[in-house]
Amino acid sequence: MIWNETMECMSRDDMRKLQGNRLVESVKRVYNNCEPYRKRMQEKGLSPSDIRSLDDIVKLPFTSKKDLRDYYPFGLMSAPISEIVRVHASSGTTGKPIVAGYTRKDLEIWGEVGARCFTAYGIRKQDVVQVSYGYGLFTGGLGAHSAVETLGGTVVPMSSGNTEKQIMLMHDLGAVGLACTPSYALYLADALADSPYPREEFKLKIGAFGAEPWTEGMRKELEEKLGIKAYDIYGLTEIIGPGVGHECEFQNGTHLCEDHFYPEIVNPETGEPVAPGEMGELVFSTITKEGMPLLRFRTRDLTSLHYEKCECGRTSVRMGRILGRCDDMLIIRGVNVFPSQVESVICELPQLEPHYLLVVDRINNLDTLEVHVEVNEAFYSDEVNKMLEIRKDVVHRLQSVLGILPDVKLVEPRSIERSQGKAKRVVDKRKLQ
Ligand code: ADP
Ligand code: ZN
Repeated sequence: MIWNETMECMSRDDMRKLQGNRLVESVKRVYNNCEPYRKRMQEKGLSPSDIRSLDDIVKLPFTSKKDLRDYYPFGLMSAPISEIVRVHASSGTTGKPIVAGYTRKDLEIWGEVGARCFTAYGIRKQDVVQVSYGYGLFTGGLGAHSAVETLGGTVVPMSSGNTEKQIMLMHDLGAVGLACTPSYALYLADALADSPYPREEFKLKIGAFGAEPWTEGMRKELEEKLGIKAYDIYGLTEIIGPGVGHECEFQNGTHLCEDHFYPEIVNPETGEPVAPGEMGELVFSTITKEGMPLLRFRTRDLTSLHYEKCECGRTSVRMGRILGRCDDMLIIRGVNVFPSQVESVICELPQLEPHYLLVVDRINNLDTLEVHVEVNEAFYSDEVNKMLEIRKDVVHRLQSVLGILPDVKLVEPRSIERSQGKAKRVVDKRKLQ
């Protein structure tokens, strides 16, 4: 089923026209209502009349996370505070968080795109959905919440934490859907297996997982452990929150709600657009938002865009899996390493559990990478030789994927700290020196 067939299945030509018209209006809105945008455009000698269609978008300056910090908290809003009905904020790694403001119409759009996501996963009005993303400033909880409510399903606003109660309510209320981060889903999967309830007594069949990068291998793990279909949901606070994109039943790329959020991929170093299908940094322009519309916002997320029509009937552009954020990229002895590459290797091996930590250090001026990974209970053994054999295999596979030789530490099952929100996979000791 498709929630909004008109928008999700529109011809590519019509979509471009619609996006162009909406972009023109958005440019006028920010120019007239938001001083930093007006100044930037003027500096480039641009006025709104220079932006007549989508092709003109490349003339516009980029917006970055730094801009949001510089104009903290409300400097990039294009609506007066009297029209802002809610704010959210993203954690922000250093210093001040990034604040986003929503008008009533923005919240409606958020509900609408969210309903598209959960409809695509197969959630219907009669289904109970447990939302185990954190509620609060983080967009995950309230975003998934309004998605399910807009669709007409029954929301259990569980938030994260209190794992035993999560399992009890999932069982008692018969949740069909679960929305949380993939790492928390993994934690819940173990808790479910340890619980007094047999799996047959749960109705769970659909997972809506996102807010952090995850791999195909992790999908397989989650689908097997939970006995469900696991779908991607993508979003970011600056653009709206979860619901910017979603997978469909074919699990073959994340459909973007591009009638609201226009995507581009650029070379992260030069800012130049790349060819369709090529990997680069994802950039969004919101084309319907009122509170905090952003033009050409650099997400720092690395991915690619694919424009072929999907088997599900949707014509909307599909985004490939996110390799990671530019900021997550580790440079180890000059080689680029993403935690997701390590995850893909770990998930290939049945002897390992997908719980891992990368520890980076600099010893005698040389970068070192330690990969700590849990061994599966069934394979964990006191026999040194058996462990060495597994280790050798992991080192070999990691070396061929990463191009550097990591030090692998096999650790006991359940010894790596579990996450109830976004997992922390990297400890970079070089930054502490
Ligand atoms: P923060 O920047 O504090 O983490 P957000 O909650 O706004 O705040 O995080 C949005 C970011 O989370 C995205 O830019 C992306 O890096 C990551 N993210 C969200 N959904 C996904 C997903 N489905 N796959 C990969 N990464 C995701
Ligand atoms: Zn599809």
